[in-house]
Amino acid sequence: MAETTVKVVVRCRPLLPHETDKDVKNVSTIDEDGGRITISGRTHDYGNESVVGGGDRHAIMYDRTAKPLIAQLFDGYNATVLAYGQTGSGKTHTMGTAFDEAEVDGVVPRAVAEIIERRQKLISEGRGCLVVCSMCEVYQEEVRDLLMECDEEEGPKALAVREAPNGGGVTIAGLSEREVSSIEAVVALTREGTRRRMTAATNMNEHSSRSHMILSFRVEVAGGEGRSKTSSKLHLVDLAGSERVKRTQAEGTRLQEGIEINKSLFMLGNVIQRLVELQSSEKRKGGHVPYRDSTLTRLLSDSLGGTAHTCMVACVSPGDVDVSETLN
Ligand code: ADP
Ligand code: MG
Repeated sequence: MAETTVKVVVRCRPLLPHETDKDVKNVSTIDEDGGRITISGRTHDYGNESVVGGGDRHAIMYDRTAKPLIAQLFDGYNATVLAYGQTGSGKTHTMGTAFDEAEVDGVVPRAVAEIIERRQKLISEGRGCLVVCSMCEVYQEEVRDLLMECDEEEGPKALAVREAPNGGGVTIAGLSEREVSSIEAVVALTREGTRRRMTAATNMNEHSSRSHMILSFRVEVAGGEGRSKTSSKLHLVDLAGSERVKRTQAEGTRLQEGIEINKSLFMLGNVIQRLVELQSSEKRKGGHVPYRDSTLTRLLSDSLGGTAHTCMVACVSPGDVDVSETLN
């Protein structure tokens, strides 16, 4: 049995033109080869291949995050890639989950291309392979199906999250699943989902920073010639912005949203922290992991920990104005 693996990759974006215009200073130095990032004079060591800077680094980011997980996915292991960071730190850029016409690069489009390629290869070898895609968002602890037809005004309806009997894991009641066999089909679905995600929101950047988006793939590979059938899941997650509520000076609904986001990211942090502790401790088995404390961690529970592989991409901004969020 493979051991729990949790890997962290830090991604630091360059200063943006609107920041340099406002005299924001770059206080981060990246040592890509050494796996170190220095923020305001303090060096943080994440180890080999764990820190990526610069602008166009989609290929490197993919190789260090999702790529190894996809090989394992086709061997039957569940996996999750999470993009964490404050709003504007580069989560969507890194994951490539804007799905707009201009920019279709990043971790997710590359992962999709590899999944489809592997499926085709298996099929050409005469083995069966089924790839099924779903897409949802978690907003204020509610799950919304992004691939389901819905009223344009109201936006997607909330679905119930249920515990399957006999330890069958957590399921989302009625979640749409679409079988996919080409990159184009997945891109079309994700564009549809992204558009739907925005319908109920007045400002799309605002909304996308307040909900977690989860794009999932279920992969089934048929058995044969001494191999048994495998079934596994990959979740690719663009998390809500991690900025602390105090800093945003939000009030009313916005404040409530902020509190919910911080709470759910805090719960996710607890789960990952616990998994890392179990990973480095002697007694790997039987340790309690608090999955049940939030909708997000419940949904991801079968793909974080156990034999699953997790990659957390911590996106950070290099500017002096963001130091406290960056360190957080
Ligand atoms: P988030 O999703 O975390 O809120 P975005 O991905 O939308 O942040 O990034 C904010 C802005 O920074 C966007 O204009 C994006 O194009 C730019 N950006 C992010 N990462 C990079 C990068 N590595 N290189 C160049 N520009 C980047
Ligand atoms: Mg974003």
